[in-house]
Amino acid sequence: MLAENTFMNNSFLLSAKRICIAAFLSLNTVMYAQKADISTISEKTLNSILEKNRNYYTEGKVADYIPELGKMDARAIAFSVVGKNGKIFNTGDVHKKFTMQSISKIIALMIAVNEKGEANVFNKMGYFGTDKPFNHFSNLETTSKPLNPMMNAGAILTTSLISGEGEKPFLKILDLVRYITKNNTIDYNTSVYESEKSTGHRNRGIFYLMKNNGLISGNEDQLDNYFKQCSIELTAEDLAKIGYFFANECVRFDGDTKYKNAEMSKLIQSQMLIAGMYEFSGEYARTVGVPSKSGVGGGIAVSVPGKMGIGVFSPALDQHGNSSAGYHMILDLVKQYDLSLF
Ligand code: GLN
Repeated sequence: MLAENTFMNNSFLLSAKRICIAAFLSLNTVMYAQKADISTISEKTLNSILEKNRNYYTEGKVADYIPELGKMDARAIAFSVVGKNGKIFNTGDVHKKFTMQSISKIIALMIAVNEKGEANVFNKMGYFGTDKPFNHFSNLETTSKPLNPMMNAGAILTTSLISGEGEKPFLKILDLVRYITKNNTIDYNTSVYESEKSTGHRNRGIFYLMKNNGLISGNEDQLDNYFKQCSIELTAEDLAKIGYFFANECVRFDGDTKYKNAEMSKLIQSQMLIAGMYEFSGEYARTVGVPSKSGVGGGIAVSVPGKMGIGVFSPALDQHGNSSAGYHMILDLVKQYDLSLF
């Protein structure tokens, strides 16, 4: 009797345990399904992520090596997503403009490759990732060529490869930014441009070393075009549209296919992934895992391949020159919706 009871108790416990395991597994499936469903993204979702991460600006510092950038309000913050079918979600300081800085490098790369062909551009620079900061001279003193088009050296060279005299190459970059964002009011900030032009001696050094190496044949107008492209002013929403464009085979958020090019979007996104966050790119690939490009103005443009574009803005930067709060907002969104490529 006792033995029978124990047996019955045991089998009761066993089935109760099975039910619990089954319930746990199906709950997990439901949670996983919810996690992956990007159609539930709303301004409310973005706003709660923004509020959770707003204070990360205290861990960073607004860039002031370009004196005019130092005037940015460290507390400004914005978060935008362009999701399925180009639907736009915004929260925070959505009208706040900032300079795109290094994010302009992906636009310049697209134009240079369209004009010269990928092989001719990458004959002059590498596809390498990096453990070096964005303004490092690598590898100009060894192989004589920049590591990649995302660091300053490669980007200055990329812009010099765009055809046209004087500021024509810059105007092509500005036009493409206006096209992708469908925003013709976008222009460059002349004070930021003048500020960088008068203090950007390191970039000037990089420019002349590449001229010495035979990679650049023009004059300093070409460097000015780089300074101007960095000074293009836009909003987080504009960045999300840029992210969306490269995530979707270079199709604009409203469906316009003028530049549709799957290979181009693969090239740009691969560069964003391996070097878009500079020496932090490897760790970023591990924690976030989607192609992203940052700028010292505090913006980051993110492409989630085939899915969406994300734009963040918060000017206080971490030690790598990437937006501190911006990084944490992206990280939370990516985790919540399971957006990592890996
Ligand atoms: N204009 C900046 C510079 O060349 C761009 C750097 C950046 O955004 N990381 O220093």
